[in-house]
Amino acid sequence: MRRSPQAAQDALLALEAGQLRRRRRVVQGYTRPGLSTHVLVEGRQCLNFCSNDYLGLARDPRLAEAMARAAAESGSGSGAAHLVTGHGQEHHALEEELAAFTGREAALLFSTGYMANVGVISALCGHHDVVLQDRLNHASLLDGARLAGAKLQRYAHLSAVDAARCLQAAGGRDTLLATDGVFSMDGDVAPVAELAALARQHEAWLLVDDAHGLGVLGPRGAGLVAELGLDEDDVPLLVGTLGKALGSFGAFVAGPADLIDLLMQRARSYVYTTALPPPVAAATRAALRIACAEDWRRDQWQTLVAAFRAGAAERGIRLADSATPIQPVVVGDAAVALRASQRLFDAGFWVAAIRPPTVPAGTSRLRITLTAGHTVAEVEALLDALAGALQAEATA
Ligand SMILES: *Cc1c(COP(=O)(O)O)cnc(C)c1O
Repeated sequence: MRRSPQAAQDALLALEAGQLRRRRRVVQGYTRPGLSTHVLVEGRQCLNFCSNDYLGLARDPRLAEAMARAAAESGSGSGAAHLVTGHGQEHHALEEELAAFTGREAALLFSTGYMANVGVISALCGHHDVVLQDRLNHASLLDGARLAGAKLQRYAHLSAVDAARCLQAAGGRDTLLATDGVFSMDGDVAPVAELAALARQHEAWLLVDDAHGLGVLGPRGAGLVAELGLDEDDVPLLVGTLGKALGSFGAFVAGPADLIDLLMQRARSYVYTTALPPPVAAATRAALRIACAEDWRRDQWQTLVAAFRAGAAERGIRLADSATPIQPVVVGDAAVALRASQRLFDAGFWVAAIRPPTVPAGTSRLRITLTAGHTVAEVEALLDALAGALQAEATA
């Protein structure tokens, strides 16, 4: 972009014209104790149906208490990177608990999932390597491959057959295969068992980013990879994020101890950054205990997904094929998605319109998420409002 007085404004106007300019709504507060579902936003009370707080833990008082206790003991900030003096008791214990939770030898904490993916891929891959990815992978996985300077190749969404074709074509070059576990904007699930078999056959690394499966799927919420019964030999690089179902903040990569140690040496987004605040690690530990113990939270989102899908079918609302808490309604056009989202907001339901470049052009959508904090009655009310908004668009 050339420097000129109007350059930024021109770029913003271009976004505006394509219905792609984004704006933020300020969450002013919450209106039910312990719940993140009932929010006060722009002076209005509404039901939040687009957060990633799948287990309803983000406002659980037990996380806040753990945070306060750790802050009193260890302070608000870590003061340094992990490899200097920032690696405290809470971080260390959390890493051990995450390794146990996912059935891996070791785990390494990162400040965010974005940083974990960028760090892991660029630590293991270079210019001579191939990074093979599902076409709809999260931006952080794509950016990791770009930062590594590796040859980035994308296979058709969910297609192990196409991935196999690409692995053949890589012709023996060192390869890392990366996929989202549960796809963040579609709610569908990668064929991880097939990909693991392929990766083994071609001696490629396999990275599964289970940001939306951890806490949500599998025995005691151990994630998609645990649900499929895949160990660290099948999936050597398991990335999880802590800001979604676990209601906290941060991320980790788990796997064989030597591999994790190597990442600790080499991942620049680990080495050259301040460790998470100890109270955040303490809150995550509390969340992990609750997520393991309280199966009713997973039962609840499953009940709601069933009710939502049945109710949508009754009302003639077409849904994507998803069995997870992510239930997108694809409307296609960005302007339509924006208007439908606004209609829902006016009716008291907060559902974000997801537009390019987050999703491919022509697949703009309402990304509805259901959480353990919602009730069946609230889902029914959402369905009525949704049917109304879509009907209004169809006749507009
Ligand atoms: C949210 C998300 C991330 C990024 O995690 P943050 O902790 O929010 O940075 C990475 N991968 C996937 C698939 C995600 O959905």
